[in-house]
Amino acid sequence: MRPYLLLTPGPLTTTDSVKQVMMSDWCTWDEDYNVHIVEEVRHGLVDFATRNTEEYTAVLLQGSGSYCVESVIGTAVNPTDKLLILSNGAYGDRMGLISDYYKLSYCKLSFPETVTVSAEMVEHYLSEHPEITHVAVVHCETTTGVLNPLKEIAGVVKKYDKKLIVDAMSSFGGIPLDVAELDIDFMISSANKCIQGVPGFGFVIARRKELMQCKGNARSLSLDLYAQWEKMEKGHGKWRFTSPTHVVRAFKQAMQELADEGGVVARFKRYSENHRILVEGMRSLGFETLLPDAIQSPVITSFLYPKKEFDFKRFYMQLKENGFVIYPGKISQADTFRIGNIGDVFPDDFHRLIDTIRKIEY
Ligand SMILES: *Cc1c(COP(=O)(O)O)cnc(C)c1O
Repeated sequence: MRPYLLLTPGPLTTTDSVKQVMMSDWCTWDEDYNVHIVEEVRHGLVDFATRNTEEYTAVLLQGSGSYCVESVIGTAVNPTDKLLILSNGAYGDRMGLISDYYKLSYCKLSFPETVTVSAEMVEHYLSEHPEITHVAVVHCETTTGVLNPLKEIAGVVKKYDKKLIVDAMSSFGGIPLDVAELDIDFMISSANKCIQGVPGFGFVIARRKELMQCKGNARSLSLDLYAQWEKMEKGHGKWRFTSPTHVVRAFKQAMQELADEGGVVARFKRYSENHRILVEGMRSLGFETLLPDAIQSPVITSFLYPKKEFDFKRFYMQLKENGFVIYPGKISQADTFRIGNIGDVFPDDFHRLIDTIRKIEY
């Protein structure tokens, strides 16, 4: 079932058992599906997201992760509000693009891709701009793999009493966090990242009280997060429009496997170990990471081209022939490629990867 391992930021390598449960068909209005799959997934997600499960609720939405980011921005931020977007990469910038489409009043505080969002500068900005109502930030910027200091940023955002939107797409399930402790109002992630499901839907963990105030706000029908939630909540797991039934079933299996592994902390340890072996091995072969270790996430790592004439395509093809698919770089200031540590991949896989890179010519 596996022509090669995906060492990518998602879709990623999934287990055979996750793929196998997609071999049956489900009826969207039958309780076998909506009560026993969708509702269990929703409750399980809130359990993974916080110990304070009363205050939060989960909404699932068809599409990729960006659909969920758009649904949150388009439903939670009103034309009379003002959004502050913190960006140090492509996914932060995408929130700006979404805001452009919605003609929202927003402001973007940009940082270079190789540094973290500075909580100090956010504080300085908020102290001078009381008109800001919402702040949006990416937790792990998958563009480079940089991990933003979410706790510090959230602390500042809440000190100034703003609503907090977090794109935790590539970190939720793989890096421990508690939405209630961080006082997050909307947290977004998707099926095909650290929970290790297959692509087809995303989800939002929302503070119930905040979401309830969003009725009628949305300017898109299919991306109306409130309407989607209301139908799911009142309809006990019903979706407004056709849901990706096989994908949701696979996700339920993936959540079970996350719990069986020992939960988010255990998964974080595995990803961190994958990352350690990768980086130590690559450095021993003369490669350098784009980021300093202190701000690097265990999710995905950017490496600089080892020399100017480095032929990425050739490197890529040789790794693929040996069973590993890696990822091109996504930044403008340096020539990089990326290797993901997430998915059903283990320390031994990274030892094998390093052995392979040692042997090939590039
Ligand atoms: C994957 C990802 C997204 C969503 O991308 P899609 O291609 O829409 O799934 C958004 N933000 C971050 C940080 C991501 O890693």
